[in-house]
Amino acid sequence: MKIDILAFGAHPDDVELAASGTLIKAARGGSMTGLITLSRGEMGTRGTVEMRADEFEKSSRIMGLSVHEMLSLPDGRLASDEISREAVVRKIRQYRPAIVLLPYWEDRHPDHCAASRIVQESAFLSGLRKLDTGQEPHRPAELIYYMSSWEFEPSFIVDISDFMEDKERAIRAYGSQVYDSENPRGGEQTFISSEHFWELLLARMAHYGRLIGKSYGEPFKIRGLIEIRDLVDSFGERIF
Ligand SMILES: [Zn+2]
Repeated sequence: MKIDILAFGAHPDDVELAASGTLIKAARGGSMTGLITLSRGEMGTRGTVEMRADEFEKSSRIMGLSVHEMLSLPDGRLASDEISREAVVRKIRQYRPAIVLLPYWEDRHPDHCAASRIVQESAFLSGLRKLDTGQEPHRPAELIYYMSSWEFEPSFIVDISDFMEDKERAIRAYGSQVYDSENPRGGEQTFISSEHFWELLLARMAHYGRLIGKSYGEPFKIRGLIEIRDLVDSFGERIF
């Protein structure tokens, strides 16, 4: 199996909030996309593990993912250790992605920082022939970081204006986590479950869309720089 874009998140819903527009757009364009969560989100304030697994299934279908899986690394205690790295190396070798999406390396949630490190290190280790998992080695061509709580200066922004409805459906599939106007006070409230969080998410996508002259965008960062092959192709039709 060869997946074009494989996204990793610490918890179910991390990737949906930050990068599902980009994944939906890629899948609609014919790319094979996948999503792996390192934990099952068992430490979440709202919802049970079973609820979050159902929501993950539903959301994955909406995003048109070719593969989706939850690993069972410990929510709230993610750390780059041998067990975590081997679990991720096995998935990278199984799905052989060209591109890996992962959380930005600095964030307010320690699990997001740990997940970033686990995936970054595993993507390198996965290319080492002598690290034996009984699978062929594989190293992704590029690691692309998505934005969770803490912002960064993006390397590029993906226009997701045409996919906002699907992104909203993919996020709202997580009924236990996000704001629900039918049940606004269901259970203990968290930042994500507030109506204000939804407004903030929309404002962020509108802000990054504006920066590329579009309605909505998702920001990403890479460690290096991007080569531009043709100036006219890349910049000739930009209107500001
Ligand atoms: Zn998270």
